[in-house]
Amino acid sequence: MAYSPLRNRYELMQYNHCGRSGLKLPAISLGLWHNFGGVDPYETGRRIVRRAFDAGVTHFDLANNYGPPGGSAEVNFGRMLATDFKTLRDELIISTKAGYYMWPGPYGDGGSRKYLISSLDKSLQRMGLEYVDIFYHHRFDPETPVEETMMALDQIVRQGKALYVGLSNYSAEQTEEAVAILRKLGTPCLIHQPRYSMLDRTIEVSLLDVLDKHGIGCIAYSPLAQGLLSNRYLEGIPEDSRAGKPSGFLKKEEISLEKLQMIQKLNEIAGKRHQSLAQMAISWLLKDKRVTSVLIGASSIQQLENNIQALDHTHFEKAELEMINQVLGKSQNHV
Ligand code: NDP
Repeated sequence: MAYSPLRNRYELMQYNHCGRSGLKLPAISLGLWHNFGGVDPYETGRRIVRRAFDAGVTHFDLANNYGPPGGSAEVNFGRMLATDFKTLRDELIISTKAGYYMWPGPYGDGGSRKYLISSLDKSLQRMGLEYVDIFYHHRFDPETPVEETMMALDQIVRQGKALYVGLSNYSAEQTEEAVAILRKLGTPCLIHQPRYSMLDRTIEVSLLDVLDKHGIGCIAYSPLAQGLLSNRYLEGIPEDSRAGKPSGFLKKEEISLEKLQMIQKLNEIAGKRHQSLAQMAISWLLKDKRVTSVLIGASSIQQLENNIQALDHTHFEKAELEMINQVLGKSQNHV
């Protein structure tokens, strides 16, 4: 049946300015890293994307290598765009990236102008788009001069293939350097996409301050630490979970007894707040106004809906934050 989005969708979501730019992003965005590839049921992914849009999620995040196989998430998303979102392009913020291995030989990985420009062209073809809204360099490449990578990003914007550019997985120092070059070129860095969750607080050390200083937005990926910060693994490792699937990036070995005990305690705190642990983990990120959007993943509509409801309760009492910090204790990754 033809898709017709909910009329009141924009009243249901909170939108935040991305840094000091004019672009607003939904407080919760949806990423297509897992669950939307060639190995996944297409119709499930399609229903999740539609439901997200109905809830006011305007931002969908992809990368050249999402799948598996690499590229298939973009192909599937392109199909959805063609069938369900044909008239809605101006209401969507679509991002993609290049920076990790994509094709064999010296030009399918890293940060060279050669790789970035051809990769984006391929992403556009796969999604059937003329432009993406945000194009990211996916990770810092020590073998390519930062100037070359930033000049490629600048060129991509000038060619109209992306409206904005962003950085992902760059350290605070690498970000400072890249941002200064981009500014000189006249294409400001819109956004940074780092990993950030209760289980990985590395960016609190300095990256968040750097982003704030330069007016750059922050979209936090893997906010549930790939599902660990939920009730998913409290009773074992389900076969249909990310850690249970052969193609999942989360490895069984990462689910230690110590981590599970900590997650159980966090789950109890969440219960006292009348939230699921997943909701508390998302709210906890959004309490910091430097975080523009939380970039979630979901394998079902139920998960998506549960996560979006986090927005109903983002306030934390001081005592709650202290309790959470106490539980996270030494496990906080501050390095
Ligand atoms: P999350 O930490 O949100 O993990 C998502 C997974 O958690 C889901 O697939 C599901 O696992 C589980 N989950 C989600 N909601 C619930 C819930 N309410 N209850 C129980 N379990 C739940 O994010 P991701 O790791 O998926 O990352 C999100 C996005 O961030 C990616 O799609 C991608 O766009 C981006 N990203 C970017 C990276 C980068 O280098 N720039 C790297 C990684 C991600 P299950 O499948 O087991 O059901």
